[in-house]
Amino acid sequence: MSYVDEVIERVIKENPNEPEFHQAVREVLDSLRLVVDANEEQFRKDALLERIVNPERQIKFRVPWVDDKGQVQVNTGYRVQFNSSIGPYKGGIRLHPSVNLGIIKFLGFEQVFKNSLTGLPIGGGKGGSDFDPKGKSDREVMAFCQSFMTELSKYIGADTDVPAGDIGTGAREIGYMFGQYKRLRNLYEGVLTGKGLSYGGSLARTEATGYGLLYITEEMLKCHGDSIEGKTVVVSGAGNVATYAIQKAQQLGAKVVTCSDSTGWVYDPDGIDVDALKEIKEVKRARLTEYKNYRPNSEYHEGKGVWSVKCDIALPCATQNELNIDDAKVLVANGVAVVAEGANMPTTADATEYLQANGVIFLPGKAANAGGVATSALEMSQNSERLSWSFEEVDAKLKGIMVNLYHNIDDAAKKYGFEDNFVIGANIAGFEKVVNAMNAQGIV
Ligand code: NDP
Repeated sequence: MSYVDEVIERVIKENPNEPEFHQAVREVLDSLRLVVDANEEQFRKDALLERIVNPERQIKFRVPWVDDKGQVQVNTGYRVQFNSSIGPYKGGIRLHPSVNLGIIKFLGFEQVFKNSLTGLPIGGGKGGSDFDPKGKSDREVMAFCQSFMTELSKYIGADTDVPAGDIGTGAREIGYMFGQYKRLRNLYEGVLTGKGLSYGGSLARTEATGYGLLYITEEMLKCHGDSIEGKTVVVSGAGNVATYAIQKAQQLGAKVVTCSDSTGWVYDPDGIDVDALKEIKEVKRARLTEYKNYRPNSEYHEGKGVWSVKCDIALPCATQNELNIDDAKVLVANGVAVVAEGANMPTTADATEYLQANGVIFLPGKAANAGGVATSALEMSQNSERLSWSFEEVDAKLKGIMVNLYHNIDDAAKKYGFEDNFVIGANIAGFEKVVNAMNAQGIV
C-alpha cells in the first residue's frame, strides 16, 4: 500500500466519526501523491505525513453561561492548534450548532495550507463552539463570548495563536471576546483579528474574503484571455463572504443574480441589491424572505436551489458540502465556466472531480478565500506596529497577495504537469512551504 493510502487509512481509524476531517485529509493527500511518491523513503522515515495530519494540540472545554431566563446553559468550546511551523496559529472561530471536533479539525487542517499560500508568516488553527448566536439577545451572546474567552485566553496570545471570525462570529462576537481577553490578561495586544476599527481592526478586513475571491478569479480569467466583465454570476450565502463577493463582482462589471441563507434563496434578475442585503443580514439579522420588500421583481424560494440558475461563474460562499454532484451536473449542463470557492470545502469531492472532468476551471477555497486570513495577517502587522493603514493601502496589498497566490498555484500545477488543476497546484504549493519549515526545525 502506498504511504498516502496508509496514512489516510490510519486517519480514518484513529479519528472515527469525523467525516469532514477524513474528507479534507483525503483531498489534500490524494493530490500530493506525486510529491510524496518522489520522496517516499525520506517522508516515511520522518513520519512526515503522520505529523502533518496530527494537530500539535487540540483543546476542548466547557462553556457555561446564563440565559435571559436565568437558566444555565452549557456549550462545548474547541480550539485546534494544528501547525505552527511558519508562524503563530491563525484561523477563525465558528459558532454554529453543527460544530464538533471533526469539523474544527477539517477547518484547521485546510487552514495550514491556506495560510502557507498567502506567503505571510502564519500557522494554522481553528476553533469554535456548538453555540448558536441566532435568536439570542445581545446580553446572551456577550455572556457566552465572555465564558468562551475565559477558558480560551489560557491558550492564545498575539505571538501564540490569533483567532478571527468565521460562521456566526462577526464584529459583535469578536468585540465581546476581545474585551474579556483584555480584562483577564491585562494585555492590549493583537490577539484577535476582525476587530472593530476603533480598537485595532484593519480597514478592508470585512471585505477581504469576498474581494479576494474576485481578485483571484479575475487574475485567473485574465491569464486565460478573459475577464469578469459582463458575466452572469451565481452566489450562495448571504453572510460576510457572500456579501462582499457580490459587491466586488458587481464593481468588476458582472451581474450577480442569486444569494441564499440557511432557509432559502433569492433570484434577482436585475442583479442583487447589496445595500438591501446588508440591511437585512447585518442590521436586522433577518431572513432573506424580506428581500422581496426591497426588490419586488425578485423571487424567493424555500430550501436549496441557487445552482439551478444558469450562469458563467458559480461562487459557493455559505458552508461545507453545499455543492454536490447533482448540483455540479446542472451547472455543467447550463454551461458554467468557472467555480471558485468562497466558503471552506463547499464542493463535495465527487462534484469537484466532475466539474474538472468537464472542463470547468475550479479554484479551491484554500486559495480562493485566502484573502480573509491574509488581511487578518495584515491586521496583526498593523497591531504590532501600532499603526493603521488606509483602506486603499490594505486593499492594494490584498490584491497583490491574491495575484501572487494565483501565480504560485499556477506554477506548482504546471511544474507537476497538471496545468489548470488548481486543486493540485494549491495543495502542492501550500504543502512544500510547510514541509520546508518543519524540516528546518527538526523533529517537531
Ligand atoms: P456568515 O456566518 O457571515 O455567513 C454564512 C452564510 O451561510 C449565511 O448566509 C448562512 O445563512 C449560510 N449558512 C451557514 N450555515 C449553513 C448551512 N448549514 N446551510 C445553508 N446555509 C448556511 O459566515 P462567513 O460568510 O464568514 O463564512 C462563510 C464560509 O466562508 C464558511 O465556510 C467560512 O468558513 C468561510 N470563510 C470565511 C472567511 C471570513 O473571512 N469570514 C474566510 C475564509 C473562509 P444564515 O444567514 O441563515 O445564517
